[in-house]
Amino acid sequence: MKVYLIGAGPGDPGLLTVRGQELIRTCDVIVYDYLANAAFLELCRPDAEVLYVGKKGGDHTLPQDKINELIIAKAREGKSVARLKGGDPYVFGRGGEEAEELVAAGVDFEVVPGVTAGVAAAAYAGIPVTHRDHTTSVCFITGHEDPTKEASGHDWEVYAKSTSTLVFYMGVKNLPMIAENLMAHGRAPETPVALVRWGTRCNQTSFASTLAEVAAEAERRKWAAPSIIIVGGVCALHDTLNWFEKKPLLGKGVVVTRAREQASSLCALLAEAGACAVQFPTIEIRPLDDWSDVDAAVGRLGKYHWVVFTSVNGVRHFWDRLAARGLDARALAGALVAAIGPATAEALRGRGIAPDYVPEKYVAEAVVAGMLDRGVAGTRILVPRARVAREVLPERLAEAGAVVDVVPVYETVPSESGREEILARLDAGEIHCVTFGSSSTVDNFFALVHPDTLRKYPGVKLACIGPVTRKTLEGYGFSAHVTPEEYTIPALVRALVAELGRA
Ligand code: SAH
Repeated sequence: MKVYLIGAGPGDPGLLTVRGQELIRTCDVIVYDYLANAAFLELCRPDAEVLYVGKKGGDHTLPQDKINELIIAKAREGKSVARLKGGDPYVFGRGGEEAEELVAAGVDFEVVPGVTAGVAAAAYAGIPVTHRDHTTSVCFITGHEDPTKEASGHDWEVYAKSTSTLVFYMGVKNLPMIAENLMAHGRAPETPVALVRWGTRCNQTSFASTLAEVAAEAERRKWAAPSIIIVGGVCALHDTLNWFEKKPLLGKGVVVTRAREQASSLCALLAEAGACAVQFPTIEIRPLDDWSDVDAAVGRLGKYHWVVFTSVNGVRHFWDRLAARGLDARALAGALVAAIGPATAEALRGRGIAPDYVPEKYVAEAVVAGMLDRGVAGTRILVPRARVAREVLPERLAEAGAVVDVVPVYETVPSESGREEILARLDAGEIHCVTFGSSSTVDNFFALVHPDTLRKYPGVKLACIGPVTRKTLEGYGFSAHVTPEEYTIPALVRALVAELGRA
């Protein structure tokens, strides 16, 4: 079969190429190392074999020859292998050596270039590696020569005398030596230098200095790998063009407690604002084992005056069941349809239903009020929803004289998987905020993280999507720092920016 040497880019998941993504989705085996973003692994097939061969500084999880053997062995088993590497596989990635081994072993291969850190981290820090006013060339240099090498491959004379932008990879430890050598061979001490750490990621940091001062400045900042070092006039643009680090939530760790299936819109908006979204799905959504109640309700759909959807999941699972029975939106033709909020309404529109009613405020009470205005006494109402949910909606509708059938279409079960990671990150000071999208996520969060544990971190802000969720939080003795005006995810993120963002 085939091995694909794939550049996974510098860290921002958006910088993986389309071809790379396609291969991660389809390959039988994924072999990845330290700097390749772990988020990509979510793309792979559920049955794919995922192998970590990491490399972090000196800590080689698997030595290079063993990595080569592993890849070749997997290919010989007849499998397609995606070999993911940080940045570009051929830029200080030892991809060339892996390719030579593959040829020697007679294994077919392809290369998918990636966005290399030297270009991307620089760009995200406001540094164009070439610029007509400053330089006509750019040079990628290793700052970490193979210590077993006899003679240095570096020609400091050439680096120093050229006007080339110099981009050093793996150079943090050798920074004093690099700066000294360049100055000793003639580069001016006031030459601009910039360092970019964790470039393109939500924890990117950078600073600009000069050849004379950079080593002391890095020491003062306790600078560490992974970082690139850029030397040259273009670094003077760092302060003017540094767009990425201006994102309002850059570096802020924001916990997302929604179920994984529902988390993507919040995570995407958080990432857009620069935050490090930390997924902690306290609940998992499961389809039902027994569909008989749903099937019975579907069988009498013609008798309902209203069908009320209270979540996107409710819509999705109800429709899955309709589809399984060979039905579609026309099954609801005779009923009025209400949605609790815009996301649920959108989910309905996507399935061919324009909801008859969406309240101004996105809580159960508001749905009820609006429906009462339209007259519900004597009507029959179907509410397809989660097995465990608030009873306000059905109770109020019943009080107003409607006959209400609450029919669970999915279940939520607590999920423990992310607990250790969250506790560790809280301890490391990496969490700045926890978001709650529903009362059940509050309950589930505290079932996993004891309220007293959270009290140890008073700096952590708590954000609730709406007043009902806030009340639940207050029941645990906490007050919400953030509740948006409108109870939607975009409004929640805007409110977070207002609370946590840089001025
Ligand atoms: N093949 C990779 C480079 C691997 S060498 C590429 O093309 O980018 C590892 C070095 O790359 C690190 O020591 C660091 O100097 C640099 N590097 C990789 N990712 C980085 C990032 N996100 N930010 C800054 N430097 C990075």
